[in-house]
Parts: sequence; structure tokens; C-alpha cells
Amino acid sequence: MLPKKQIVDLPVYQPGKPIEEVKRELGLDSIIKLASNENPFGSSPEVQPAILKELSQLAIYPDGAAMELREAVSSFLDVKGEQLVFGNGSDELCMLTSRAYLQPGTNTVMAVPTFSVYKTTATVEGAEVIEVPLKDGVHDLPAMLEKIDENTRIVWVCNPNNPSGTINSKDEVVSFLKQVPETTLVVLDEAYCEYVTNDAYPNSLSLLPDFPNVLILRTFSKIYGLAALRIGYGVADPAIIDKLNRVREPFNTSRIAQAAAIAALKDQEFVKKCREENAKGREQFYKAFDEMGLSYYPSEGNFVLVDTGKNGNDIFNALLRKGVIVRSGVALGFPTGIRVTVGSTEQNDTFIGAFREVLEGRG
Ligand code: PMP
Repeated sequence: MLPKKQIVDLPVYQPGKPIEEVKRELGLDSIIKLASNENPFGSSPEVQPAILKELSQLAIYPDGAAMELREAVSSFLDVKGEQLVFGNGSDELCMLTSRAYLQPGTNTVMAVPTFSVYKTTATVEGAEVIEVPLKDGVHDLPAMLEKIDENTRIVWVCNPNNPSGTINSKDEVVSFLKQVPETTLVVLDEAYCEYVTNDAYPNSLSLLPDFPNVLILRTFSKIYGLAALRIGYGVADPAIIDKLNRVREPFNTSRIAQAAAIAALKDQEFVKKCREENAKGREQFYKAFDEMGLSYYPSEGNFVLVDTGKNGNDIFNALLRKGVIVRSGVALGFPTGIRVTVGSTEQNDTFIGAFREVLEGRG
């Protein structure tokens, strides 16, 4: 049997172990997971009743066009229904984008380090991946622009960027978009946009009428707290949405995920509270890191990348033994970093205490 040659050396994504398994292995009663940028406050209380209502309908396929959710998102964002596509997480939307626009002989430009799924999905399609290093932790848009040629089909801009948490400003993004050729699709991945508190952040939706080559990707996994249900959306010119629909599976989002997303979207009070708590949590981290003399990237997301000055894997393992799971920066392109999700105030305190002990060599 001969698989596609480009997948032979593709690394298999290694998800973290389930918390219960880690607890058993380490003999710990409680574990705090601040590793996957999940919402420590769960999801809106409106979500569970909405899901329960769907349980009598499990034998019936979901609405493949997600009409009710489409209407809810289109009126919330003030865009047309045909400007929207829904995916099984925005992971799937990245995959559909690569599937629709890339093939051998084309290339795609992205930052490094950034969210790993762009590279994986592009590689599967046989496209050449051109990586442009971040500059001071931020997408270097002028350098990315220089790499675009007539074969560039997609440029990925992760804003805020995972794992650095940094943003590109409205001025930077607009100046970039003005220079990208119309034949190149620009993906603005805004998985963490609801956490941003910096006024310089672009309102990307308002850019769509001027730039019909832009695709915005967002998710219900982060601030809406629906990571388990796998649902995200894309917003773009209907011509782009049409291409994604051609490569999309007919029933790619579940009935339960659609109902939950509608309920979650309605509860903007919950979203506001999470944004505020997250901003406080980031400050809690900054204060602690400042006291420890560590440098970090000021983050607009729900995570902070901090330079520990030591091997990220060692710090990760030492924190794990104390019952705190973070992400080592080693696999994220920051060998001395760790990426910590902002949790509740108590979780943040626990992490900070454990981190101090680890750095001081106490365990
Ligand atoms: N984009 C970015 C930048 C992310 O960090 C993530 C999740 N880690 C995703 C997209 C995918 O999120 P989901 O598939 O859960 O919507």
C-alpha cells in the first residue's frame, strides 16, 4: 500500500493525557490543567438545557447547512448568511481551506512559530510551506509579504498568535492586505479575538468589503467554552465560502454542537465576564513573572508564553509532578518557554506558587 508521499513523515498530533490518567500515574488527588487554552469558567448556563432538548432527536441527521445557527451568527456579526461556513472546530476549517486552495506546485506562507494545523494541512495537500520567523514574537507581515509569489495561494495570519499571544494592529493588517495579490487568500485566524482588550486590534469584519480575499476563522472552543463539541465558523466573501462548501462533508457539525453554539452566542454577558476575568488573570501572571524577573510576551489571548530561562520540558515535568499541567515551549518553537493558559484566580495562584517552587529548585 502506498500512501501520499507527503504524509509519510508527518508527525502524529500528540494530545495531552486525560486528567484522570495523569492523576492515577502521579498519585495526585487534584490536577490543574492550564495547557490547552480552555475556558476555566466552562460555558454559559444556557448551553446545557439547549443540548438536552436535542437528545430526543439523535436518530435524525443535523441540518447540514446549519440554518438556525447561520441566522444567529449572521445577525450577531451583521454579515450575510452566505458569508458563513461552519466547521467541526476551526481545525476543520483550516483543513477545508487547505483542501480547497492548495495542491502540489502551490505554496503557502505562514509565521513560525504559529498554530501547527496550518502547516500540517498544507503539507497533506502537497503544497510547499514557507515559514517566516516572528519578529519579537509578532507576525512579521512585511517579511511575509516578500515571500509571496505567483504560486502563493494562502497566507495565514494568526491574530492573536498562538503560542506568543501577540497581535498585529489594524494599521499593520490593512497595510498588508493592500499589498497582498488578489489571487492569494489571507486567512485571519481569530480563535482568541474575544479575549483581546487592546484597541489597536483590527475589526476584521469591517475589512471584508474592501478585501474579498480575506477569510476570518473563529471558534466556539475558547471564550464560549464549547471545545468538547467541536464547532467553529468562517466569515468571507460568498465566493470563498462556496469553495469551502464544495470540499466540506455534508453533516460536518453535529445537531448538539449547533444548538449549543446558538445558546452560547446569546449569552454575551458570560462572554464579557470571561473576557474581564481573563484580563485580570493575565495581570496576575505578569505581576508574578515580573517579580521572578522573567520575560514574557504581553498577551491578548487566554494564555501567556513566559521565558523560564531553563529547558521548557524540564519545567513542564517539574510542574506536572506538582499537579499543574502547562505546555512546554519546546514543541512550540520556544525551547526555554512554557505556555500557560489563564485559569481562575485560584488556579492561577496555584500555578504561580508551584512555578516559584520549581524555579527555586524546591521540587
Ligand atoms: N486556531 C488557533 C490559533 C488555535 O489555537 C486553535 C485551538 N488550539 C484553533 C484554531 C482550533 O480550535 P478549534 O478546532 O477547537 O475550533
